[in-house]
Amino acid sequence: MMRREFGSREELVEYLKMEFPESSAHGEAVSGTRGGRRAAQALFDRVNPDRYARSRNFLSGAVTRLAPYLRHGVLTMGEVRRGALGQPNPEKLVQEYAWRDYWRRVYGQIGEGVWEDREEPKRQGRAAQQWELPADVPAAETGLACMDGFVTELKSTGYLHNHARMWFAAYVIHWRRVRWQSAARFFLTHLLDGDPASNNLSFQWVASTFGSKPYIFNRENLEKYTAGEYCLGCGRNQDCPFGKSYEAIDQELFR
Ligand SMILES: Cc1cc2nc3c(=O)[nH]c(=O)nc-3n(C[C@H](O)[C@H](O)[C@H](O)COP(=O)(O)OP(=O)(O)OC[C@H]3O[C@@H](n4cnc5c(N)ncnc54)[C@H](O)[C@@H]3O)c2cc1C
Repeated sequence: MMRREFGSREELVEYLKMEFPESSAHGEAVSGTRGGRRAAQALFDRVNPDRYARSRNFLSGAVTRLAPYLRHGVLTMGEVRRGALGQPNPEKLVQEYAWRDYWRRVYGQIGEGVWEDREEPKRQGRAAQQWELPADVPAAETGLACMDGFVTELKSTGYLHNHARMWFAAYVIHWRRVRWQSAARFFLTHLLDGDPASNNLSFQWVASTFGSKPYIFNRENLEKYTAGEYCLGCGRNQDCPFGKSYEAIDQELFR
């Protein structure tokens, strides 16, 4: 039986480190995200579907941050869906909840099959793919301020915005030519909402092994939705691999 009462958060953290040494071996960082129903309810009360719909693609957008609570059953899909439907303009948010539900249903049918390509990739890159994540990626030493920033945030908070997850997955799979499974495993190690259904099937969507085409992006897209936060001080500003048109990137990666 796990202990449930603690004198302080520090005491809780020490207890968890002792009980789960394999997890704490992945890093010393402790996420600021609070567990439990009260913390979940506080976030749930702030959900605004209309602002969500208008801003969700921006890193500074009004996203809910409910995923860890849904993942661990602190909130149910039924209650968050009902909460959205009771407010103006709920469609976009309910659509995102539906993605989660859909991935869960696929997982329910194929189980461990989420670790295998569901389909052939739609476009093949020029170089052969490798299985292991190159060491500079998880060490946040690629020199790309965006990708290194995402890794640092993921490892220290257990969270990444959906757009950052998409950019990171595309970078690793298409630019670095790494099999999606190793990046998916890296995410599952650190995400508080880490879940093989949403995670692996989203990686497969980016890779185009569970989707109609590979997901790619360019610098203009990343700069727009991050308000230039990463590009401004990036050491690779002059040789940014994303600083091209979509056509040029497509040509470079797939032809
Ligand atoms: C490569 C990659 C890996 C991902 N791994 C996970 C994962 O392990 N666990 C996980 O829960 N989600 C995952 N997602 C989906 C999505 O990024 C997260 O659910 C979302 O960013 C969590 O933050 P939020 O709660 O603020 O989301 P919000 O944008 O506020 O969305 C509200 C809720 O809708 C659901 N949702 C939103 N977008 C998606 C989506 N694209 N797919 C499925 N559900 C969605 C989530 O339950 C989320 O909490 C992944 C996406 C990508 C591209």
